[in-house]
Amino acid sequence: MNRIYLDHNATTPVDSAVLDAMLPFFSRDFGNASSIHTFGQRARSGVETAREQVAGLLNARPQEIVFTSGGTESDNHAIFGVVNAGSGALKHLITTSIEHEAVLNTCQALEKQGLAVTYLPVDGNGLLNLDDLRKAIRAETLLITVMHANNELGTLQPLAEIGRIAAEADVYFHTDAVQSAGKLAIDVESLQLDLLSLSGHKLYAPKGIGALFIKGGTRLRQFLYGGHHQRGFRPGTENVAAIVGLGKAAELAHAARTSDAQRISTLRDKLEHGLLSRIPDSRANAADAPRTPNTCNITFPGIEGEALIIALDLKGLACSTGAACSSGAVEPSHVLTAIGLPASEARASIRFSLGRHTTEAEIVAALEIVPAAVAQLRQLSPTYRTESANTVK
Ligand code: PLP
Repeated sequence: MNRIYLDHNATTPVDSAVLDAMLPFFSRDFGNASSIHTFGQRARSGVETAREQVAGLLNARPQEIVFTSGGTESDNHAIFGVVNAGSGALKHLITTSIEHEAVLNTCQALEKQGLAVTYLPVDGNGLLNLDDLRKAIRAETLLITVMHANNELGTLQPLAEIGRIAAEADVYFHTDAVQSAGKLAIDVESLQLDLLSLSGHKLYAPKGIGALFIKGGTRLRQFLYGGHHQRGFRPGTENVAAIVGLGKAAELAHAARTSDAQRISTLRDKLEHGLLSRIPDSRANAADAPRTPNTCNITFPGIEGEALIIALDLKGLACSTGAACSSGAVEPSHVLTAIGLPASEARASIRFSLGRHTTEAEIVAALEIVPAAVAQLRQLSPTYRTESANTVK
């Protein structure tokens, strides 16, 4: 069976050019980047080239890039780092209700330490309201942390406006750009960002590597204590091969971003329109918002998302629900409930996320596989039969 992978927001395959760039650093160039001999200097050169490549993707300066273990660490580092560097007088953070857990749970941990956090609501497309943001800022606000692209919907927040508001209020501005870095142009300078998180495995580099952009002059307490690696910001012997892979991935994304976005959004639209026209009562979520080019999220009333994922997997198609399985119960996604979906519809929603290697033939196949699976599950669904019987004219 030729498997179709439409779950690129969960993770991406390592690009073959990325793997090629990494391989020498496992063998010939295996040195410790802190060593002064030639082995070490080759590794150092790989790390510093990667720093330049990641900086180039963001219009940052290389010295403003710190390599981390991924998006979760970058988010934690940014938020705890700013709070811990503060004098303690500024005790208020602002975020949104649809952030990834890496931000939400960090904010919740800080609440337990006595900080106040405002979780801004979003509208039906997942967009925050800029007036709500302005009103939420207080004299003691230290940081605004708002994600760029939402992982479940693809919705893009208006970073330029948020950056302007944060700068006017003299408040630090962090964005979790894990789902947008490499897909869309990001200019940390024009967006007036102080901190930005990204993750390798969402942009065709390996898992376990990421980066944090820290604008020069930002007061940030280090997160880990150890040696002097990465100017003390992130001690620990650098994961040279993974860093080199992230650098290469950033370079590739920089070069291909615009053409990839055009091609992928055309395929995404074909998939979305095709599913909506073939599957009665289906609805696309956040379709009216500015979105990442690769993501669509569709509600198929009458089905359980988990059951559909399994049915599709049996047919060779991989996609996902936003639902998280906790303590045996399937919780509806906090993102989908935040945009106003009732729990039953949130559970009936599926995310399709396309990628660099997605082909038109795969989308054509998905347009056969998904409608058949939804129809089959709906036949078994007492609730869908009742709902649809009530609406039959
Ligand atoms: N932030 C967002 C928006 C994400 O989608 C993810 C991963 O899904 C993360 C953070 C966490 O990144 P990582 O898996 O690299 O820790």
